[in-house]
Amino acid sequence: MSRKYLIAGNWKMNKTPADGAELAKEVAAFVTKDESVEVVVCPTAVALDAVSSAIEGSAVKLGAQNLYPKASGAYTGEISAELIRAVFGKYVILGHSERREYFGESDAFVNEKVKFALENELKPILCIGETLEQREAGETLDVNKTQLLGGLEDVSAEDMPKVVIAYEPVWAIGTGKTATPEMAQEVHAAIRAELAGKYGEAVAEKVRILYGGSMKPANADELLAQKDIDGGLIGGAALDSKSFSDLIASAR
Ligand code: PGA
Repeated sequence: MSRKYLIAGNWKMNKTPADGAELAKEVAAFVTKDESVEVVVCPTAVALDAVSSAIEGSAVKLGAQNLYPKASGAYTGEISAELIRAVFGKYVILGHSERREYFGESDAFVNEKVKFALENELKPILCIGETLEQREAGETLDVNKTQLLGGLEDVSAEDMPKVVIAYEPVWAIGTGKTATPEMAQEVHAAIRAELAGKYGEAVAEKVRILYGGSMKPANADELLAQKDIDGGLIGGAALDSKSFSDLIASAR
């Protein structure tokens, strides 16, 4: 398989700059210079700078948890792609279910952000996933298709290898409930088939599709062994250097 595994830590609203820098240093010490796994840490906006310094010279990359799709200006409380790039951010998580749920982000708005990230040299990690209610109603594949195609509207085939998709079933996030490897693989395969339909097989084969939702060292091996699972977007287990390192080791 030509896709490089990606393990990304989504720290959410946790870690001070000092604590984040300490955690990032521990992660950086674990990651080798010629690491076979791509490793990304995504701290809060206020910790981006400190974490950036902490990982300098290592193979660990920096990501932000959100951006506002405007260059600069009167957007109180928001951060731009340029500000993320100024602290050497390379990735940005977009459309996380917590943002969709608590901040009312629509597919159209997420799509604006995805395009803006790409225009501004940031790689988007586009998150999609169904709620428990939607799963129980048999809507899983439809919901994920809508969020996927909505988030990718007008994104070119040329840009697609820079895009990472994260399938995160909402009912598995922070709950300790993980999708079984078979459940996850079914959705990942459907996502790749949609990508192939829109962009062709060759492009679809290049796009990394991460699993997220209570992924931890105990369940990572089985999930990562699935054909279409190319890494993980990790919340809780990314806040501790031991469990995050174990997840990186699982992906090696
Ligand atoms: P979790 O979060 O690993 O704590 O379930 C994953 C995520 O929301 O990205």
